[in-house]
Formats: sequence, C-alpha cells, structure tokens
Amino acid sequence: MTAAPLATVDAATAPRKPRLVMKFGGTSVRDVDRIRHAALKVRREVERGYDVAVVVSAMAGETNKLVDWVREAAAAPGERAAFYDAREYDAVVASGELVTAGLMALALQQIGVPARSWQGWQVPLVANAAHGAARIERIETAALEQKFAEGLHAVIAGFQGVSPEGRVATLGRGGSDTSAVAFAAALGAERCDIYTDVDGVYTTDPRLEPRARKLDRISYEEMLELASLGAKVLQTRSVELAMRHRVRVNVLSSFEDGPGTLVCAEEEIMESKVVSGVAFQRDEAKVTLLGVADRPGVAASVFGPLAEAGVNVDMIVQNISEDGLTDMTFSTAADDLERATATLEAARAGIGFRGLVADRDVAKVSIVGIGMRSHAGVAQKMFAALAAEGVNIKVITTSEIKVSVLIDRKYLELAVRALHDAFELHAD
Ligand code: ASP
Ligand code: MG
Repeated sequence: MTAAPLATVDAATAPRKPRLVMKFGGTSVRDVDRIRHAALKVRREVERGYDVAVVVSAMAGETNKLVDWVREAAAAPGERAAFYDAREYDAVVASGELVTAGLMALALQQIGVPARSWQGWQVPLVANAAHGAARIERIETAALEQKFAEGLHAVIAGFQGVSPEGRVATLGRGGSDTSAVAFAAALGAERCDIYTDVDGVYTTDPRLEPRARKLDRISYEEMLELASLGAKVLQTRSVELAMRHRVRVNVLSSFEDGPGTLVCAEEEIMESKVVSGVAFQRDEAKVTLLGVADRPGVAASVFGPLAEAGVNVDMIVQNISEDGLTDMTFSTAADDLERATATLEAARAGIGFRGLVADRDVAKVSIVGIGMRSHAGVAQKMFAALAAEGVNIKVITTSEIKVSVLIDRKYLELAVRALHDAFELHAD
C-alpha cells in the first residue's frame, strides 16, 4: 500500500492560470506525425502560461470507417444496414477519439508537457440519451480542475459523453467542435482555438472565387448563417453554443501559422462591411405543387407528411391565389427530392393538387451580413448584380441578416463571383 499524499492541491484555492481550449480536427491528427506537430502547438500555449484542455477528433477517415463497420455488422453478410442499435453504434464510433486522446497525451509527455487523457465518461461530460445525436446536459469540471491545479494539462476525447444510464453517447457527426466549445464555456477558457485544414473563414469558397479573402473576425450570427448555409468549417451546433455562452472561437490552420478568424460577439467587431460573405449550396432541388386549395390547413397537409418522412424543407413560397387555388413552392436538398415527391404523391388525396413540378438542377446562393440590419437596398443590389449577368432568380427568401436566392445550378459560379464583386468582398 502506498501512503496517502500528505497534501493534495486544493483546486478551489490554488491560483488559477488562464485557460485555453485547443481542438484538433481529423486532418490535424491524421497520423502520429501530425499529432506530434499539434503537440508542439499545445506546448507553445503552455509556455505562454495557459492551462490547456486539448479536445481531439478521431484520425481523418476513422469515424467513417467505424460507421461502415457498424452498418456491416448489423446486416446480413454482404449487406449494409440502414438501421442499427444506436447504443452500440455509439460504443463503436466513440472509439476513434479514444485513440487520438491517448496518443496526444503521450506526444505531449514526450516533449515535456505533463498531460493526461480523458474519455467522455471520465470527465464526465453528461449527455442525454439521444444516442448518435446526443445533447450536452452539463460538464462536471471538478476533476479536471483538480488536475490543472496539480500541473497536468488535459487531453479530452471529443464527440462523446456519458448518457443517464451510464453508456457512451456521441454528439452527432462533427460533434467534437461542439465538445470543444462546451469545454471552453464550462472551464471559463479565454478562447477556444479550433485547428483545422483551412486557415480561417473566407468571404466565399476560394475554390470558386480565387479572390476570396480571409476574414479577421466574424460575428456569431453571421457564422451561424454561413455554417448552416454550407460553409463547413464548424458544426452549426458549436456556433449556437458559442453564441449562447459567449465563447470566443478562433478558427485556424494546423498546417500553417497565421492568426485565423475569430468568431465573436458583434461588439468586438469594430467595423464591418454590409455584407460579410457569399454562401452557397450547390445541390438543391425545387418542388412546386400546382393548384392547391387556398384554405387553412393546406400548408400543414403538405409539410406535415414531408416532416414525418424526414425531408428537410428549406425555402417556402406560396403564390397569391386565383379562384381559390394557389401554387406552393419549396426547396430541399437534391438528395431528398425523390423522397419528397414520393411522399407528396402518397398524400395527394389528402392535400389535393393539380400537378407537381420538380426541378433538380437548382442551387442556392446567399449573401450574409449583420450590416444589412442598418442598410437599405442590399437585396436590390444583389438582384441587380444577378440581372446584369443574366441570371434568373426562381425563389427569394430573406432574414434579418441574409438574402437567399434559388437559381439554375449551371449559373452558380457566375452568380457567386458576381456577388463577391458587387459587394467588394475581395478588397480590404
Ligand atoms: N470524429 C467525429 C466525426 O467525424 C467527430 C468530429 O470529428 O467532430 O464526425
Ligand atoms: Mg469537423
């Protein structure tokens, strides 16, 4: 038996260092070499005086491989199951992060940074029982804080927590971003640095518009619109969480040094353009129901069955009615189109419509900016820029800080560049 230590460090009274959460995505931990490289970045922050909580993803491609094994094991030989026991899915897919957490702790120790790995249940990060897409209920930080006080930095397996019945629960694909932000909030971290394979958030996709510019700062509200509009830098949920808890999130590259993009409160952004970015979604589809009755309950009879079938509906437009009949148009992901039309045909008797027109070759382009709140004529400028290029607009929707249009997919590149130009997003 070893003697109990004479004194343990009391986390409550120990002087508290500033804290930092550093999250490394799949490509940043894709092999041991990359993990070593990431560990050096951690050491740099430790040397600056931070207590660091490192949150890791699985190695790139690993989670997909695990999901595939689950689908294989849950089906007859040679087949792939579409449904499986979500608890066991979680047991399998959470393992990817366990590997990288342990390896990162070892790599840190090897370069002289005292570190210990933590699985979700060990912290614990308490989640609800929605296996496969669990929500975070709370994080109990006492044990982590005790280790900080003893001089040990933490490496936390992202993407996972413990369910009320004590089983591992994962937070949905891309969920380690959400883990990282949640830890930053719970630990009162100064910042949450998200290391990824891009060096920040851009005014639009640089692959489509080479003059796209990296933003120094972007507000939570704008980032939320961009994230949900398909700029896949951060999981949308993580941005919601950051906004709610006012966590400053810095998106930066683990491959090159640079300041990244800070996602922060509007008040921290001194001056911004009216429009901050042009987002797009390439693979959209549009469905129009012709001649539906213009009476209460019709929209519910259309969108109820679609929701039940799991069709994610985006834009919705209803025309003015003539003779009590109207046309109803909505957009959805191109992948959902067949399910949408089949669902509507099956519900045809209950809804009552004359015809259904589907267009699978559309794309959505949006301009986003908090400056729109205080500036008139932004939508008009967008429409004029598209008109000048001869791009026809099929559907328009707006929110306080966004204008979206549906156009023919073949004009997507043209439209994005025209808007990037019109709102002078390339220039500083
Ligand atoms: N490894 C998980 C995924 O690929 C979680 C993450 O990387 O954020 O979805
Ligand atoms: Mg990710």
